[in-house]
Amino acid sequence: MIKKFFLFLLIVMLLLVGVVLFNTFTFKSNQQPLSALPAPELSETTLKNFQQALSYKTISYGDPSLFDSSQFIGFQEFLKTTYPKTHETLLREIVEGYSLLYKWEGKNPDLKPVVLMAHQDVVPIEEATKSMWTVDPFGGVIKDNFIWGRGTTDDKINVIAIMETVEKLVSENFQPDRTVYLAFGHDEEIGGKGAVAIAKLLKERNIAAEFVLDEGGIMTREKVPGLTKPVALLGTAEKGYLSLKLTVTAQGGHSSMPEKETAIDVLAKALNTLRSKPFEPEFSEPMHGLMESLGPEMPFVQRMAFANPWLFKKMILGTYSQSNTGDAMIRTTIVPTIIEAGIKDNVVPTVATAVVNFRLLPGHLSGQVIEDVKIKIDDKRVNVAPLNNNVSEPSAVTPVKSFGYQKIAATIQKSYPQVITSPFLVIGATDSRHFAEVSSNIIKFSPMIDPIGFHGIDERVSLESYKTALWFYEQLLRDLN
Ligand SMILES: [Zn+2]
Repeated sequence: MIKKFFLFLLIVMLLLVGVVLFNTFTFKSNQQPLSALPAPELSETTLKNFQQALSYKTISYGDPSLFDSSQFIGFQEFLKTTYPKTHETLLREIVEGYSLLYKWEGKNPDLKPVVLMAHQDVVPIEEATKSMWTVDPFGGVIKDNFIWGRGTTDDKINVIAIMETVEKLVSENFQPDRTVYLAFGHDEEIGGKGAVAIAKLLKERNIAAEFVLDEGGIMTREKVPGLTKPVALLGTAEKGYLSLKLTVTAQGGHSSMPEKETAIDVLAKALNTLRSKPFEPEFSEPMHGLMESLGPEMPFVQRMAFANPWLFKKMILGTYSQSNTGDAMIRTTIVPTIIEAGIKDNVVPTVATAVVNFRLLPGHLSGQVIEDVKIKIDDKRVNVAPLNNNVSEPSAVTPVKSFGYQKIAATIQKSYPQVITSPFLVIGATDSRHFAEVSSNIIKFSPMIDPIGFHGIDERVSLESYKTALWFYEQLLRDLN
């Protein structure tokens, strides 16, 4: 009887190994070989225009009173004089004060339009880091085959590469097959009111775009372990954003005869509970897409795992959860960001508050997360409420099979040989999250390779990236049928 059981077990094991190996060896690459247009020149003018764009301090400050409109007006004048033919041919509107919307009429009115997005604003240089920069952050310096400065990677490379390309094509009397909108917000770094207004305007005009392309993913040679080829990560969804305020009110009093449990104790316990009871990890749709796209290109062990996620789910999730970025890809994250209580060293405070920030996986709506948080804390003394209505739900997921995804993936492969394209989940927030009603196919991707210093010191992008971006936009715009 026992012998029979072991025989049965052996057969099951062999079948399992057979299925796993079969899946691994038949896990075929979904990358297409394509032929490309010749790469564009990085002429002196093309370089100078990017350098000059960086000299405008189009900064979005946390404190709105610091907003310097003259920098934005200057930048927009610069665009006008640098790209005159674009401004003759395309219709330009100013939205919400300083955001720009251009319309380039397409040849075929039966085809749905596309929207190319980028933002004009940049983040400030922190006072404490000013002296740590190798170059003047607004000097537009070219050094060691990189273009240096605030806004190079985020996001002036896209504004300028798009404008350069449109100017070139308009000068040839080229007209795109579809109508193309260019949407350049002016306050992406502080919430994107400009993008909200542009999206509203397009919606009012009944414009349903075939796809929207905005920043989000990049190309990388370094960031995906196990891969020898470069990878282009196309954001097909964006995590949601929620901040909750936890408030505890209790008997205060003199610190010489404290209560058994104070407001601070109760709050600390709640925060500790939240951190020690994280949301369960899971594969979102972009993560499944990533495994399907990258798996066939990986070394044997990873390929076997990605080919059989039904069996190796725990192992894959375990590996991802080891790094902060990996963990953020597979989980709704929880982190306290502000804590306040107390005014004097010998007074026990009556009120203690904390703000906890959550980034929501696709499908995890804020209402449900709030309920789950209350259940996790399980303490009626802790009041849980959303902070300032600063909530954005996780985005819908753009299908990999959509025209937009396929077109952009193919264009990337034509602009950067050997690159593997893959969907992925964008962890941060972009302006395109406001465009859900303009298109159900939103792709978040900047055609640059391993940019450095995003939002930080010595922000820079390689000349190779700039060239790739120009090549990418030219091939995309020429082939929008
Ligand atoms: Zn950005």
